[in-house]
This record gives sequence, C-alpha cells and structure tokens, in this order.
Amino acid sequence: MNLRRDAILREIGLGPLWKLRRAAEPAPAPLQEAAAVAAGEGQTEEARAAAIAQMDWRELQASVTECRSCGLCQARQQAVFGIGDLDPDWLFIGEGPGAEEDRKGEPFVGQAGKLLDAMLAAIDLNRRQKVYIANTVKCRPPGNRTPEPEEIAACWPYLARQIQLLAPKLIVALGKPAAQTLLAREVKIGAERGKLHAYQGIPVIVTYHPAYLLRNLTDKAKSWEDLCFARSTLAKIDNLQ
Ligand code: URA
Ligand code: SF4
Repeated sequence: MNLRRDAILREIGLGPLWKLRRAAEPAPAPLQEAAAVAAGEGQTEEARAAAIAQMDWRELQASVTECRSCGLCQARQQAVFGIGDLDPDWLFIGEGPGAEEDRKGEPFVGQAGKLLDAMLAAIDLNRRQKVYIANTVKCRPPGNRTPEPEEIAACWPYLARQIQLLAPKLIVALGKPAAQTLLAREVKIGAERGKLHAYQGIPVIVTYHPAYLLRNLTDKAKSWEDLCFARSTLAKIDNLQ
C-alpha cells in the first residue's frame, strides 16, 4: 500500500474501514477447511494459495483453465477467467458463469450480461475499456445454483490474485456471494449498499446482482443509485490524485 493512496483513502473516509486480510492470506478457518477437502489433490490449501499468489497473469489464466480444485470442474465446458481492460479503473465481480458464459468462455454474456452492459453504457463505460469483469467462481454451478462456500473458498485465491494484479481503483460487488467474499462476512445487500466498504484498501461498493434486477424491477433504481455513488467515489479518487 503506498502512502499516497493511504492519504487519498483517508480523505474519502475509508481509513477506519480497511479490511486487513491480505490477498495471499488463506481464507477464514471454516472456509479453509472446506477448501482443503475440496482441493484434495495432494497439495495443501496453503501451498496452493501461496503458489497462486505468485503467479503472473498468464500463469493465472493457465492455472484456471486447468483447475480441478473444486467440484465445479466436473460439469463445466470451460472455466471463465474474466474479460476487460488489464489496467482497469473499475472491477465488477459477479457470482459465477451461467450456461451462456460456460459455452462462450466470457462472463456476463447472457440476459444478466445484457443488463450489465446497459448499466455500464448508462455511465459511459463498456466492458473493454477501463473495466474488468470477473466472477467469484470461475466454473458454472450446475443449474445456476448459488456457489457453495467451499467452492467459493477454493476459487478465492484466483480472484484475490486477479485483484492484486489488476489493482483497480474501485470494485463493484454484484450480489451477495461477491460482497460476502470480499468483505469476509455475512452481507445483506439492502443493508450494505450505499456505504463505502474496502478490500485491501481498495474501495468496494456493493449492489444487487443484474440477474436479481431482472426479476425485481423496482430495485433497478437502487442499483442505478449505487452506480452513481460508485462513479462519484471514483471521481473523488481521481481528483485527489
Ligand atoms: N452471472 C454472473 O454472476 N456472472 C456471469 O458471468 C454471468 C451471470
Ligand atoms: Fe477451480 Fe474455481 Fe473452477 Fe473450482 S470454480 S474448479 S476452484 S477454477
């Protein structure tokens, strides 16, 4: 963490909220045990996380492509690594690939993805410029069920390393699994949206998942507010730099 960024984050009121969990640090104990069972390929979970924490972007991508560290590898067509600008201002983190994403190898290309693209366009963004899009788990949960805690824990070292290498200015957590993973605690989106959180000194804003918004149109306005809040937070960071 550089001092300049410390000062900036203090300025926008983030200082006291910092989460001190480091990217290379293992997941909390219960998740860790679950992941150790899930990993099961001779390598301890710590050793695997430590190896992933050293990878460069290409090694990380190759490792995800081959990964069999949790049960989600069984039914996938392919792992979905992420898409976008490798020097992003924004990092959007969803839940996990759906059927369409599993087929195409790109996140958010189905119905929820169309809504996400529209939301990005509304604030003059697109998925290839200044934006990176990733997921909490890289392989499709069968039937689009919510990923299990042990699957999220097994995949966490990949996401942690992606965040470290991408070093976005701001993270938007789309839905509960992404929010809980980043904040390392139980999260109710309704209660945590509109607040500035942080992961590793990076501002985190939580909002509803686009798939949820497709079913709950009344909350679309709230997610619009959340995006505007994210945009103004980013503008403040840019002004201070
Ligand atoms: N929903 C997600 O959370 N991620 C995707 O990539 C697609 C749909
Ligand atoms: Fe590996 Fe993540 Fe896919 Fe599980 S979801 S097999 S941990 S890449």
